[in-house]
Amino acid sequence: MIKLRLFENVIICIFMYNNPHNSQTFIIHRKVIKRLKDNRGWKTTSYKPGLKIIVCIKQVVATQNMKIDPINHTLIRENMPSMLNPLDEIGVEEGLRLREKYGGEVTVITMGPMQAKEAVLRCLAMGADKGIIISDKAFAGADTIATAYTLYMQIKKMEYDLIICGKISTDSETGHVGPHLAEFLNIPQICYVKKVDLDIERRRIIAQKETDEGIEIVEASLPVLLTTTMGLNEPRLPTLKGMISSKRKEIEIVTAKDLGGSLSNYGLRGSPTFVDEVFEPPSRKPETIFQGDPKEVVEKIVQVLLNKKLISSRSYSVC
Ligand SMILES: Cc1cc2nc3c(=O)[nH]c(=O)nc-3n(C[C@H](O)[C@H](O)[C@H](O)COP(=O)(O)OP(=O)(O)OC[C@H]3O[C@@H](n4cnc5c(N)ncnc54)[C@H](O)[C@@H]3O)c2cc1C
Repeated sequence: MIKLRLFENVIICIFMYNNPHNSQTFIIHRKVIKRLKDNRGWKTTSYKPGLKIIVCIKQVVATQNMKIDPINHTLIRENMPSMLNPLDEIGVEEGLRLREKYGGEVTVITMGPMQAKEAVLRCLAMGADKGIIISDKAFAGADTIATAYTLYMQIKKMEYDLIICGKISTDSETGHVGPHLAEFLNIPQICYVKKVDLDIERRRIIAQKETDEGIEIVEASLPVLLTTTMGLNEPRLPTLKGMISSKRKEIEIVTAKDLGGSLSNYGLRGSPTFVDEVFEPPSRKPETIFQGDPKEVVEKIVQVLLNKKLISSRSYSVC
C-alpha cells in the first residue's frame, strides 16, 4: 500500500508492506518532481484537494405553453424562451456550499444543443469552476435512458465524490435521469434530498430525504448521487463579478466521437422508449353549482344523475 501526504512543497510517500516494520518513507520536493517532469516530458494531472462535485444541469423550456411537434411528437425547443431547471440551480448551490466548506471543485455538465451554453454560463457565474456541454446531432431525440447513458459515458472518465441531479426537470418531469445515471455508474443514490451532511473523515454522507410519510435519514459512502428537492437551499443570484469571470472559465465541448462507444446507444437510436401519441387533455366542462334548500338541492342532483343514467329510479329514496 502507498500512502501519500501532501504538504506545501513536499510530498511524503510511504510504502507499507505486510510487515509494518518494513515500511519505507520517501520525501520528494515539488521542485524535484517538476525537474523530472520537464526533463523526461512526464504528464501530470493537477491535484486539487477537497471534493470533486459534478452537477448535472438541464436547460428547460421556460413557458407554460409548451408546443409539441405533431409529426415526431417531440417538444419544440427552437425559439422558445429557456432557463436553467430550477432544481438544478438548487443542485449548483448545494455543490458550491459543500465546496466552500470542504474545498474542491464544482463541474456542471449538460447534454443538449449549444444554446444550453446560456445555462452553463449562469452556473459558472454563480461560482461553478468548469462547464461541460455534451452536444452532437447524434444525441437528438434521446429518451431518459439514452440521456443518462450519454452523461454516464462522460462522467465515468472523470473523478467524482458527489454527483447532484435535480429531482425532475420542469419540461419533461420524468425524474428518471438521476436514478438511471447512478445505476449506470454503479454507485449509491439518495433521491429527494432535503438536507446534506458529510463526514469527510469516513467519506460518508448523511442525508435527509423527503418521503410520502415524512423525512427519512439515509447514510451512504462516497461517491454517491443525490437528487435535489425544493427547500434544500435558496440558490444565490449570479453577481456582476461572477458574470464577468464566467466568461474566462473553461467550457469543454464534448461530441459523440469524444465519448466513444457505439452511436447506436445515443439519441433516438439508443432510446428504448418512444412517444406513441401526444394529445391535449379535454378541457373540463364548467361546473354546475346547486344552491338553496338541502332537500330541493338533493332532488335536483338526483334528477341530473337520472338524466345521465348514472343511477336508476329504483335505487334512491329521499327522506
Ligand atoms: C419516450 C420519450 C421520448 C423523448 N423524445 C424526445 C425527443 O425526441 N426530443 C427531446 O428534446 N426530448 C425528448 N424527450 C425528453 C427527453 O428524454 C428528456 O428531456 C430527457 O431524457 C431528460 O428527461 P427529463 O427531462 O424527464 O429529466 P428528469 O429525469 O426529470 O430530470 C432530472 C434531472 O436529471 C438531470 N438531467 C436531465 N436531463 C439532462 C440533460 N440533458 N443534461 C444534463 N442533466 C440532465 C438534471 O439534473 C435534472 O434535474 C423524450 C422523453 C421521453 C420519455
